[in-house]
Amino acid sequence: MVTDLVYHDIFVEHVMSPGHPESPERLRSALNSIRSAGLLDSQKVNLLTPNRAPLSEVYLLHGKEYLEGIKEKSEKGGGIYTMDTSVNSYTYDAALYAAGGGIDAVDRVMHGDAENAFVLCRPPGHHAEYEKAFGFCFINNVAIAAKHLLEKHAVERVLIVDYDAHHGNGTQRSFYSSKDVFYVGLHQDGRTLFPGSGFPNEIGMGEGVGYTINLAMYPGAGDYSYNRAFSQVVEPIAESYNPDFILVSVGYDGHFMDPLTNLGLTTAGFAMMNTKLKQIANSYADGRIVCFLEGGYNLEVMGMCSLNLLQELMGIDVTSFDDKYNESNIVSDYTEKLIEKIITDSPLL
Ligand SMILES: [Zn+2]
Repeated sequence: MVTDLVYHDIFVEHVMSPGHPESPERLRSALNSIRSAGLLDSQKVNLLTPNRAPLSEVYLLHGKEYLEGIKEKSEKGGGIYTMDTSVNSYTYDAALYAAGGGIDAVDRVMHGDAENAFVLCRPPGHHAEYEKAFGFCFINNVAIAAKHLLEKHAVERVLIVDYDAHHGNGTQRSFYSSKDVFYVGLHQDGRTLFPGSGFPNEIGMGEGVGYTINLAMYPGAGDYSYNRAFSQVVEPIAESYNPDFILVSVGYDGHFMDPLTNLGLTTAGFAMMNTKLKQIANSYADGRIVCFLEGGYNLEVMGMCSLNLLQELMGIDVTSFDDKYNESNIVSDYTEKLIEKIITDSPLL
């Protein structure tokens, strides 16, 4: 079976503002790296052009007036939209195709047409809330795919792992009171980074208590901390929750070279997480995993990490790079204590 690489040319037409770090160059760099490695010629990769998400499905997670506001702004040629988002004439359509990419990807995996998928999209989605464009995001792509799995495929349990350096506030909020979607976020501590949320005491509400976990990492946390977090929290949670489908919010902004954050991951650290996520999918979800691009603002890192993710999904050797970073003992000790607290507070661990 194939790995779908979901991409639409409109994803590079959406531009926030000249020189903005969330730029079309991010996707060009990812695609160049994948193309240079010859993967676009591989029989194992299916370059999939997505459809627009049906508005009826987008309205399940976003207000109608809110979406019409984005549409109107796009139709008028764009401009500044909210404090940290701006729109051009392609933004509304690009956001609908990005969300549609997620829906098409999970449909094809559920139907057995593809083994797994990487949705290489812009604009990203995990900060978008019900009626708030936020953090360079407009429509929450991963949340819409999760909702689609629950509503259209009668899937019972979806595990979303979000390893972008920023807390996926919009995704968390979409399912905060639900046990049908388990949200695990690994991100830089909100006291030191946008959006200022995603603390360990945010564990869900009502029926959803215990079905949200936030690993708020100390600045400087790298491969060691993330490895511990996966082996002591993410993997045991997957065993306990037994998900039917794995969705991943992929962000390469946790890399030590990223210009917007202060984490310490290397390409090997991202590859480790991808391997473990694929193993989780194989162990519990019959291999069903779809990854969504969120952030990542160093263009070289975008290329290396996107190549590695696609290689992992295809099941071929992952190229190793020579980027090195040493996490300090103070940070590792902090992570150990954080993990202890999360294990103590979680009813599922
Ligand atoms: Zn991010």
